[in-house]
Amino acid sequence: MLARSKDVLQAARTAHRGVVAPDFIDLDSARCFVETADKLHKPIILSFAQAHRHMISLEEAALIGGFLAKRVDAPIVLHLDHGEDFDYIEQAVKLGFNSVMLDASMHDFAENVRLTKEVVRMAHAAHVDVEAEIGHVGGSTEGGSETESVYTTVEEASAFAEQTGVDSLAVSIGTSHGVYKNNKNPQLNFERLAELRAAVPIPLVLHGGSGTGDENLRRAVETGITKVNVFTEFLTSAFAEIQTEKPDRYATLKCAANEGMKKTLEHYIRLITL
Ligand code: 13P
Repeated sequence: MLARSKDVLQAARTAHRGVVAPDFIDLDSARCFVETADKLHKPIILSFAQAHRHMISLEEAALIGGFLAKRVDAPIVLHLDHGEDFDYIEQAVKLGFNSVMLDASMHDFAENVRLTKEVVRMAHAAHVDVEAEIGHVGGSTEGGSETESVYTTVEEASAFAEQTGVDSLAVSIGTSHGVYKNNKNPQLNFERLAELRAAVPIPLVLHGGSGTGDENLRRAVETGITKVNVFTEFLTSAFAEIQTEKPDRYATLKCAANEGMKKTLEHYIRLITL
């Protein structure tokens, strides 16, 4: 069923558990994610990132996500990940996404607040929940090193939450998007995370879940993270399954890739949600 992210995340926050937010890029990945959530009877935040609009259009993503969510019993949130501009986010809301993210974390504090408030006003009027980001989670487009990430400060996070009225907040505590150099798990700042959880009354989000490591993720959820975003690992696990199975037909290749993605999501749901 289509569920509100506010409800799903608040319930998880209260229970000190996490919710996985997998990014889909096509019908197969979306179907794998929804079927896995339904099999385990657990919620997911089914996400589509603006950066993947070359894979499928926003219209297609809305139709796929809405269709799949409505035909299962597990709570599924249809979320726009890393919305880059107001018009695209407004379009997502009109098409049926019931949760959106604006990532204006590259701007200074005042500009991030101003842009986020505009999105909050528009989205809340349509009963759509909003995630924003403060601090900066670096990524592979910047070279793939955790060193580009800028830790979120407690003062900025609590002021930002209060001034913008967002429903959840992505914070930077040492993860980075994409793969890590030398495949080493990053060092997370758990002390800062505990302070953020104590000071910020809304669910906190961890971006860059891939390669973070099970122990880090388990501890991050225990310490204060509620939503964990994962993308890259679905692609690597799909490809690894293809290399293991060595399919000789396109149809079996697709099945192998799907199997890899399902296994990865099941692993993360069992790790942080169950
Ligand atoms: P990874 O690709 O590192 O898992 O990051 C995903 C993400 O944060 C999407 O918002």
